[in-house]
Amino acid sequence: MSVSKRDYYDVLGVGKDAPKEEIKKAYRKLARKYHPDVNKADDAADKFKEAKEAYEVLGNEQKRAQYDQFGHAGPQSQGFGGAGAQDFGGFGDIFDMFFGGGGRRQDPNAPRQGADLQYTMTLKFEEAIFGKETDIEIPKEEECDTCHGSGAKPGTQPKTCTHCNGSGQLNVEQNTPFGRVVNKRVCNTCSGTGKIIPDKCKTCGGSGRVRKRNNIHIKIPAGIDDGQQIRVSGKGEAGVNGGPPGDLYVVIQVRGHEFFEREGDNIYCEMPITFAQAALGDEIEVPTVHGAVKLKVPAGTQTGRVFRLKGKGSPNVRGYGQGDQHVKIRVVTPTNLSDRQKELLRELNDISGNDAADEQHDSIFTRMRRAFKGES
Ligand SMILES: [Zn+2]
Ligand SMILES: [Zn+2]
Repeated sequence: MSVSKRDYYDVLGVGKDAPKEEIKKAYRKLARKYHPDVNKADDAADKFKEAKEAYEVLGNEQKRAQYDQFGHAGPQSQGFGGAGAQDFGGFGDIFDMFFGGGGRRQDPNAPRQGADLQYTMTLKFEEAIFGKETDIEIPKEEECDTCHGSGAKPGTQPKTCTHCNGSGQLNVEQNTPFGRVVNKRVCNTCSGTGKIIPDKCKTCGGSGRVRKRNNIHIKIPAGIDDGQQIRVSGKGEAGVNGGPPGDLYVVIQVRGHEFFEREGDNIYCEMPITFAQAALGDEIEVPTVHGAVKLKVPAGTQTGRVFRLKGKGSPNVRGYGQGDQHVKIRVVTPTNLSDRQKELLRELNDISGNDAADEQHDSIFTRMRRAFKGES
């Protein structure tokens, strides 16, 4: 697989917001053009494979959302078309797509991909920012160890169903006004599996599958955010008849923080300071997820002013840099003043305290008057 992969949207030649139908159409067009049975050019097979891989992701809502978030470089996304062996296994699907599902045969013994699984993981605010590695336990269906999926008691073999000759289906002939019509229905002797198990495996009761608790190691990338999900390729349920396993989707929930709020890669917080600190200026200590940081508040700082602490936000989950922390200053009006404090404030007020406020007050009224008169 080449190092620089083309963007899947570019591969299919569709826009990022292309609806499902358009993606399907674009893929069909490419598949028809490059299908190795049709196109003998040297690069046709690669082009076909590329288009198929792009469609496998963009044609699946969950995988597309995952790709939109993380791109090719997504966490643990080795699974994007990584199972090279099965890339060419899907011709059947394509021909079904081209020629309609009319005669769709469901071969009971054909390999089928295992089901996708979903797991919701709740992270603390900081865990989402710094990422973490953890093991999760997931109950999932796997091949039975005793019979290795055959469903037959060890030493015995499943037999081909004699009613349907292993096809799982029976032909039912019917006379209609249009002539004789052959319909297919599921063989009820073998329930469509095409096999009869005379001696069932005791572990799985003949299904060939058992539910097991599975420990799966998960790497949460730094900077992940609430609502995002991680696809762990091949960790879904086991495939049937040798088909590939499904995928595991870990959906992330991030708990709120008492002090910080996060939006994208930036973190927001509010810092209360006293009236004296705001008026005289001060150096204050601001908590960040990276540790406390000193912030110089200049003299005359108004409430609501925002200071930016560069690089003190969350790392970008796709590796594009680092967010900032925005600190909003809130000047706290003192309450429960002592007599001495009141006395000092009155003195301050008498000397100069109202000048600045009066000035602002005046200018607001001047502007309003102008606005009413239509002046600018
Ligand atoms: Zn078994
Ligand atoms: Zn049968």
